[in-house]
Amino acid sequence: MKIITKKRNYREGNISDIIKFIDEILKTYTVIAPTKIEGKQTKFTQISSSTEILLNPNHQTSFSFKEWLLPRNQILLQYNFDKNDITIDDSVDFSSKKRILFGPHPCDLHSIQILDKIFLEEKDLDVHYKKLRENTLIIGLGCKEPFKNCFCASVNTLEPPDGTYDLFLYLKGKKFYAFEGSSEGADLIKKLKSKVSIDGEKQISLINKHIASSQTFKFPKDEDIGAKIKETYGSEFWDDLGKKCFGCAGCTIVCPTCYCFFVDDKVENDGKKKMYKRIRDWDSCTLNNWALAAGGHNFQNNRGIRLNRRFMHKFSQLKTKLGRIACVGCGRCIDICPTGASNPVNVIKDLIKFKK
Ligand code: SF4
Ligand code: SF4
Repeated sequence: MKIITKKRNYREGNISDIIKFIDEILKTYTVIAPTKIEGKQTKFTQISSSTEILLNPNHQTSFSFKEWLLPRNQILLQYNFDKNDITIDDSVDFSSKKRILFGPHPCDLHSIQILDKIFLEEKDLDVHYKKLRENTLIIGLGCKEPFKNCFCASVNTLEPPDGTYDLFLYLKGKKFYAFEGSSEGADLIKKLKSKVSIDGEKQISLINKHIASSQTFKFPKDEDIGAKIKETYGSEFWDDLGKKCFGCAGCTIVCPTCYCFFVDDKVENDGKKKMYKRIRDWDSCTLNNWALAAGGHNFQNNRGIRLNRRFMHKFSQLKTKLGRIACVGCGRCIDICPTGASNPVNVIKDLIKFKK
């Protein structure tokens, strides 16, 4: 991605032309976009036609885009094991086709910025993440209204961060407003029927001001949350929260910034020979076996302790490492949790009031 740093060029056009644009880009790219899956659940899936897309700025997908950059059951390595010799099987093709991720909202782009910092830092570079990230063009979609459980304005994720998107769209009435974020985005926009917009910046600013002023759900500010999480470790606050939690991992699965994984070696046999694969799969700090060690020892076999750990990681440790909390206010964990135990806003507000 060659990032455009100069002043944004605003364009505008008719929303109906976005549909034609999607069909056009489908001729060249794999396109991943919000779609309905089961019941009311929605998710980023690979589409084959524009008719499948959920083009709705007032909708937050139940699941984030995360699996497209950090896939489940991702093969990291394939190798042959013959007597005492191990040889890497380099016939495995780890490349991926160039694809477009369409429709993540600004909060999701902030979570991509967080994942980039974690997986693309030189000393911790993850080559598998890097390949997928480099092969993914991103067309973001602005929101029009706050969702029931989101709180982007209070965690500074209302606007898309530079360096994460190639093209960004806002929808208003029957019109769209667009600006590119990279040279690839500037090429993409040529496929979308549009003209220079003289009031694009003003219209987008009005949308964002409306969201900020009408979003009543807010993450608490100006508190040393990290210290409070640390000093209450093992207290009844976390015990009580742990009693509400089922340990279902729903909150971490839907969260766009949760990235815990485990690595496992598996043997497959196709009838002719054995294949050895090193596979990465998602893990979750809310699961009972998250800290299970050899010999059956479990260092975090208490749900309250594990929730303390979850909040500590997001709101303290990653804040120290990245300079920001690792919650982008998307609200998905609140939507999915049946008990409220994962609600970052309410849990942190209650924690601030708690006296040990
Ligand atoms: S906090 Fe809620 S969503 Fe997360 S594991 Fe516990 S019950 Fe499941
Ligand atoms: S903790 Fe919840 S609100 Fe924050 S980024 Fe994760 S899913 Fe979204």
